[in-house]
Amino acid sequence: MTFDDLSPDQIRALIEEQAAAYDALRSAGLTLDLTRGKPAPAQLDLSAELLALPGDDFRAADGTDTRNYGGLNGLVELREIFAELLHVPVDQLLAEGNASLELMHDTIVFSMLLGTPDSPRPWAQEDEVVFICPVPGYDRHFALTQKYGIRMVSVEMREDGPDMAAVRELVQDPKVKGMWIVPTYSNPSGAVVSEAVAAELAAMETAAPDFRILWDNAYAVHHLTDERTKSADILGLCAASGHPNRALMYASTSKITFAGAGVAFLASSQENLDWYLANIGKRTIGPDKLNQLRHARYLRDAEGVLALMDKHRQILAPKFDAVLEILESRLGGHDVATWSVPKGGYFINLDVVEGTAARVVQLAKEAGIALTPAGSSFPYGKDPLDRNIRLAPSFPTIEELRAAMEGVATCVLLAAAEKSLG
Ligand code: PMP
Repeated sequence: MTFDDLSPDQIRALIEEQAAAYDALRSAGLTLDLTRGKPAPAQLDLSAELLALPGDDFRAADGTDTRNYGGLNGLVELREIFAELLHVPVDQLLAEGNASLELMHDTIVFSMLLGTPDSPRPWAQEDEVVFICPVPGYDRHFALTQKYGIRMVSVEMREDGPDMAAVRELVQDPKVKGMWIVPTYSNPSGAVVSEAVAAELAAMETAAPDFRILWDNAYAVHHLTDERTKSADILGLCAASGHPNRALMYASTSKITFAGAGVAFLASSQENLDWYLANIGKRTIGPDKLNQLRHARYLRDAEGVLALMDKHRQILAPKFDAVLEILESRLGGHDVATWSVPKGGYFINLDVVEGTAARVVQLAKEAGIALTPAGSSFPYGKDPLDRNIRLAPSFPTIEELRAAMEGVATCVLLAAAEKSLG
């Protein structure tokens, strides 16, 4: 049934029904939060053992005293584990502080102030710098790009990666210096960049000699099904296409161990890593090696990480299932919404009737359900169609999630019915 098939009387009846459901929802006095992709306390508890490590044995495998200064590249025993998981050579992988966002921030700031190894001049000295932003995408990428005055141009993020016809066209312009990508279980649509799209990104000719792909592999091992999707080998593809410095890959243990006290990684060409290390060497004498050592001891090896991720999955998958079940049962019969069914990552992407996303978020807020602001997944916070809502099911309990999603479904229907009456 679509709303278009209904008579005005039927729509009015539907509004009355949903308005009554909405009144009941408001009087329930909920305070629920689906805004951010934070791990739930039960997920953090999985890594409780970390807190007791490394104990008295604070020497790394090569004898390094991890309590002391130094070791800018990060501990090799931890880099070995993640090199295997990220499918990059260990000497092309750095282990640094607790947040990959910090490494992305550094990359942007160093490029603006100093230029990359391939830049004719610092980006800040160009008339204008432009980044390609696949949408929907990660709001913090867009906020960071905006902060440093880089103009953002959206392209559609499809099931297998960004719209390559649009990307190919944009990179003809030398002002276009880079692009964001979350290649695996993208935030928020769950899309996975295919090997073919990655190969095109690596090989395409760009007018800017210093074009960069910020390949944010935040969800490389965050599977929600038996299928362990392997990310495309962007570094290998770039090197093979004669553009070894094009891609920088980021990852972290934020959603593997502790979101606020994990370890972040950067993988790239040797030249890019030398550039990065020379620059961060001015702001730190070395990362927190004690934390890296406790991670290496706790995780043991790549299999250890995958086993831990299976435990996360046991907590997360039922939450995603609950959201999908409610979306299907409440909205499936009406042509008012579509949603992603992700095989990994932290989000479900909900597209509602055009022009109603902000209204849905407002209705939900007034009923005590906090959703990510409408438009968040777009540059400048503006969804041109006002239809996209990012759902983050990880943090609430299943009971809270069910209550919140019943409420969200009511808000989606009410806003759609209001709109169709005009
Ligand atoms: N990248 C993406 C795509 C994310 O969704 C997140 C967390 N929401 C991050 C990066 C943040 O990673 P970190 O904690 O390593 O800074």
